[in-house]
Amino acid sequence: MTHTFAGGCLDRAAHLRSDAAAIAGLLETDGARFLPYRAASPLVTGGRSPGLGWLSAEDLAVVVVGPSEALFLGLEEGEARFAVPVPETVQEGDLGAGSSSFRGVREVAPLLSVADASVMATGRSLVAWHASHGYCPRCGSASSMIDAGHARRCTDSRCGVVQFPRTDPVVIMLIHRNGSCLLGRAVRSRRYPPGLHSCLAGYVEPGESIEEAVRRETLEEAGLRVGHVRYHSSQPWPFPSTLMIGCFAEALAGRPRIDPAELESVRWFTREELLEAVVRWDEDGALRVPPPLTIAHQLARAWLSEGSGLDTSHP
Ligand SMILES: [Zn+2]
Repeated sequence: MTHTFAGGCLDRAAHLRSDAAAIAGLLETDGARFLPYRAASPLVTGGRSPGLGWLSAEDLAVVVVGPSEALFLGLEEGEARFAVPVPETVQEGDLGAGSSSFRGVREVAPLLSVADASVMATGRSLVAWHASHGYCPRCGSASSMIDAGHARRCTDSRCGVVQFPRTDPVVIMLIHRNGSCLLGRAVRSRRYPPGLHSCLAGYVEPGESIEEAVRRETLEEAGLRVGHVRYHSSQPWPFPSTLMIGCFAEALAGRPRIDPAELESVRWFTREELLEAVVRWDEDGALRVPPPLTIAHQLARAWLSEGSGLDTSHP
């Protein structure tokens, strides 16, 4: 299944990234379009069905430093698409885009097409990576962008370390046993609506397989041992750049025991309770689950559908 932020249609044309002449040529073409990001927020067109606020080179020239800032996202029917960070002082009007606005990726994603949400996420992750990787991890000298935004190289010629945009793997698991599923409320969710519970999740650590990460995180956070682990699907999550690896995990016998540093509560829910929460995900209730754009929501739907005939297609 394709989750929100996956499903992009651009040809990433990775072979062009290191071809400076080809990229320079693409930047010059009339069909080249640029998606500005102010901090982590892309420009989005207004109206009832918003789209990405692509600008021409001419529109962008007013505020942007130069093509060296453009991050090559790929080709759409042969025309180049770039993400471009713009200074935080830039206003929509400066770009001749009065009806457009810079909007948060998470807020706007449900309003966009699958393909646009994916392009927006790719750009956000790349922009955020450059903003936080200005220095060489080996010698501390400044680094500069290379490969049209898909790498950075240390500017000290004696060092020259090259870094690539990172994606951090996170396992997220729907834990089940005897027809019930285990959901937790993270300590960091205190600002979220009452009743919100979600799948347990955590970063994969060095030297660990996906299955081992699922078992370790479940034991650490909920005190439960897990037997069979089954991969379901994955979701790029551009906050700033993780890959959520969705699994079903069968708990062995035992009572949950929470790690109070991680979870505020954890408990078993019946299929009926979960179904109610999935259908009424945006209403107050004893149990709330995250919105449909999250893999946690889709894992819950998929688990409910197994054997029940519920439609699991993306709502
Ligand atoms: Zn260096």
